[in-house]
Formats: sequence, structure tokens, C-alpha cells
Amino acid sequence: MKKHHEAVVVVGGAVAGSALANALGSRGIRTLLIERLDRERHGARGDLLHPPTLRILDRWGVLPSLHADGALALRELAVTHAQRGLIARYATPARGDGLAERTIAVPHDRIEAVLAAHAERKPNVRVERAIVTTLVSASTRATSCTSRAKARPTRPRRCTGTSTISACSA
Ligand SMILES: Cc1cc2nc3c(=O)[nH]c(=O)nc-3n(C[C@H](O)[C@H](O)[C@H](O)COP(=O)(O)OP(=O)(O)OC[C@H]3O[C@@H](n4cnc5c(N)ncnc54)[C@H](O)[C@@H]3O)c2cc1C
Repeated sequence: MKKHHEAVVVVGGAVAGSALANALGSRGIRTLLIERLDRERHGARGDLLHPPTLRILDRWGVLPSLHADGALALRELAVTHAQRGLIARYATPARGDGLAERTIAVPHDRIEAVLAAHAERKPNVRVERAIVTTLVSASTRATSCTSRAKARPTRPRRCTGTSTISACSA
């Protein structure tokens, strides 16, 4: 079995895992992010991201990429009724200057994709397309995992880290 050692192994690269990889990568921590899918997941939901979250994304350098990707800045809330139509409109002023000070609306799949692409560009973050088949625990804490590459049949590999974090429900 091939072995690989990183400071942190993150299992699952959707919104939680990719965000974590950005956080760790921004602190210079060697991280292996393992995600089984090699394509974007498409769903029909959107998220609102508010200034406290946006400030964190800005620190990681992700926020300009979300704007470049087409995030919509929220400038107004409109209340509508099925029969009566538009009932009220409220302006939503920015809290200050800067990209992080105005709530944005983004499709959930694009948040995942932009976060994942950003994590992958960080020099100390490595992303692997593989299926984690086993999480090895000591007491209540995952200490390592085994994974199998998706593209071709390969020997399973053991991934160990100071921390192994599961960001998926598998
Ligand atoms: C219709 C809908 C609406 C929602 N609305 C809201 C909302 O308004 N507000 C809110 O806060 N939350 C909402 N949620 C919940 C929110 O979207 C989820 O809590 C969040 O997306 C979970 O993210 P995650 O990264 O933890 O897990 P997931 O998105 O489940 O990602 C897990 C990742 O791990 C990968 N993975 C799984 N198993 C393995 C394995 N063995 N090896 C390698 N990779 C693996 C998967 O491919 C996936 O990419 C909604 C959910 C749904 C379905």
C-alpha cells in the first residue's frame, strides 16, 4: 500500500472541505484534500453570503473570484404576494466600502467550484480525485484514511496526517 503524509487530510471537497482547505492553505499548512467527484455538482439552490462571511473569504483571496464568477450584489429586497404582486421594497445599503461590505447571492454549486479552484491553486494544498474507502479512528478521532484513485485501478493508498478531517457524510 502506498503511503502519503500531510499535516492535514480533508475528506470531501464541497463547501465545507474546500473552505477548510482554503483556511489551512492560507496559514501555510500542508493539506491533502480528497474529493471523489471530478465534475461540478449542479443543484437548484442559491445562497446569500453576508459581510462577516465575505470578510473571511476576502482574507483567503476568494471573494474577487466569486465576483468575477458572476455573484450578484444584493441592493434591494422585494416582498411579493401571489395575487397582489409587489407589496414592498427595501433598500439594502452596503455596510461600508469594499467588496466584503455588501451581501451577495451566488448559486451553491458555484461557491463550491470557486472555493475548490482556489484551494487547488494554493501551493501547500494538494487536491486528489479519489474515493476514501476507510477512515481509521483512534478513540473518537480519525487519524488516517485509505483511498482509491478513480481514474484507473490502482493500489489503495494510506493517507495520514496530524489531523484527518471528514467533511463529508460518508
Ligand atoms: C435543497 C437544499 C437546500 C439547502 N438550503 C440550505 C440553506 O438555505 N442554508 C444552509 O445553511 N444550508 C442549506 N442546505 C444544507 C447545506 O447545503 C449543506 O449543509 C452543505 O452544503 C453541506 O456541505 P458539506 O461540504 O458539509 O457536505 P456535502 O455538500 O455533502 O459535500 C460532501 C463532499 O464529500 C464528497 N465525498 C463524499 N464521500 C466521499 C468519499 N468517500 N471520498 C471522497 N469524497 C467524498 C462528496 O462528493 C461531496 O463533494 C441545503 C441543502 C439542500 C439539499
